[in-house]
Amino acid sequence: MKKQTIAKIRLMKKKDKEYLYQLLAVPSPSGFETKAQDITESYLKPHADEIIRDLNGNLIAHKKGSGKRKIMIVGHADEIGFMVNYIDENGYLYVKTLGGFDVNLLPGLRVDIHTNKGIVRGLFGKKAVHMMRGDGDAPKLKIEDVWIDIGAKDKKDAENKVQIGDIITYNCQIEEFSNDRIVSKATDNKVGVYVAASVMKELSKTPLKAHLYSVASVGEETTMKGARTSSFTIEPDIAIAVDVTFSTDIPAADKRSFGDVSLGKGPALALGAALHPKLNQSLRDLAAKHKIPLQIELSPAGTGTDADGIHAQKRGVATMVLSIQIAICTRQTR
Ligand SMILES: [Zn+2]
Repeated sequence: MKKQTIAKIRLMKKKDKEYLYQLLAVPSPSGFETKAQDITESYLKPHADEIIRDLNGNLIAHKKGSGKRKIMIVGHADEIGFMVNYIDENGYLYVKTLGGFDVNLLPGLRVDIHTNKGIVRGLFGKKAVHMMRGDGDAPKLKIEDVWIDIGAKDKKDAENKVQIGDIITYNCQIEEFSNDRIVSKATDNKVGVYVAASVMKELSKTPLKAHLYSVASVGEETTMKGARTSSFTIEPDIAIAVDVTFSTDIPAADKRSFGDVSLGKGPALALGAALHPKLNQSLRDLAAKHKIPLQIELSPAGTGTDADGIHAQKRGVATMVLSIQIAICTRQTR
């Protein structure tokens, strides 16, 4: 891997950066990933021997090798989102989540509701602090404690604009902060898709022994359907799931529980029961040999990533999880 590919935003090639930013911006909540997959398909078209879009919506790009072995690198194309669940008499919307959230972070956030007629903007609200009775009245919020205000006059007015089941994503611009750090609604896990696609692009002119499959999977945040079905189809010998993980160099992170993983000190390699010890060791050796920074984190049982749907597929797949750190998180799972 060239050093440049270790995410220096300002050093990225224009076309690659455009691809990443398009991916980060496009709405693709879990189960509704088509628009994100279209972007990756056109980016990878010149670099793959074939591209398959399967029944569930996985995008599988294949570069042929001269041998029999198959390596799959996968990032999940879905992001967390919501669906409209209920509209009350006053025209406020209540939602179900697509993926795991910290509900306490939702109030005040702007959202896009994707309707048949286009995007309707909304804002998450909760009971105002002025209307609370004291400490005991400020509990951990549940999803039914928050609502979305779309400015509707009443239920009928809201029903003219949105329907039960419409999908919802954050309305959040991509911003570049200092030190090559970016803020976006869907860093988890458009950066994983970007890495999987970049590997194929980087290797497109290199003759390979193993077959290389770059996969943008679907449904990781909810059902894991993409990891299961794509690995069933490909039958890889080795799979590398690229996802994000929490960095613990932030205030109040308990390193006794979550280990020591810092932003900017290299990707985190996960160790645990689902992950292949020899494969992990060979990556550690390779990183040491080439002086590529690598951090270690533990995922003793489930990893919370596509690896969970891949490692025990068919006769088993030697599986690895490589994670990119994120510093601020609005969610509970990865
Ligand atoms: Zn993820």
